[in-house]
Amino acid sequence: SEEERQLIEKVKQAMPQLNAFLEQTLPVLEAKRYAESLKELTIKDPLTGLYNRRFVEQVLDNITAGILRRSTVLGVLMCDVDYFKKVNDQYGHDVGDEILKEIARVLRENVRKSDIVSRFGGEEFLILLVDVRKGDAEMVAEKLRKKVESVTFHTKAGPLKKTISIGVSEFPVDSTGIWQVIKFADVAHYKAKELGRNRVV
Ligand code: GH3
Ligand code: MG
Ligand code: MG
Repeated sequence: SEEERQLIEKVKQAMPQLNAFLEQTLPVLEAKRYAESLKELTIKDPLTGLYNRRFVEQVLDNITAGILRRSTVLGVLMCDVDYFKKVNDQYGHDVGDEILKEIARVLRENVRKSDIVSRFGGEEFLILLVDVRKGDAEMVAEKLRKKVESVTFHTKAGPLKKTISIGVSEFPVDSTGIWQVIKFADVAHYKAKELGRNRVV
């Protein structure tokens, strides 16, 4: 139609401008996308997709400030996979990685979206439960422990079962220093190992 013909003519006339626009903006868009994936890399663990330790350390002060402002409680869960070395030794590192990924998924899917699930060390996960009531963190930990225990991991080496031990503490209930509270959760998780593993302390 005449209308279409005119439109095409307009676009053609604008071509040099359009080209100039695209030439200028595309690199910017690319750079932006690149920066975003870089940012993602610095806050997420590539294997599990969980937050990494550095990210948690960076946001910790903000999180505790919010907890104090709202007069709520932050549950701190230090989770460690039981006898994980055996998986690597018996089935290889790849199968170990598969299981880590799956455990990470189970942990993330069974807490609130607003909670922080992080990979704190090799097979160690630190979970921050935001705005719980005093005493509730232990219940959540027990729920997570049971979930992991109930899962069958379908790996390339066949079906495998794993358990986790969890140490629990609460901020600012156990201490007003967040690192002290994290330390308490860590000590509690060692206690859980001592007491036989697959338990919450
Ligand atoms: P415990 O019940 O006392 O926790 O025993 P454990 O065998 O889990 O504890 P230990 O700390 O001795 O071993 C942890 C193992 O986790 C050793 C290390 O090779 C393995 N590991 C750490 N990071 C990764 C990883 O990214 N992938 C794999 N496949 N293994 C990992
Ligand atoms: Mg460990
Ligand atoms: Mg372990």
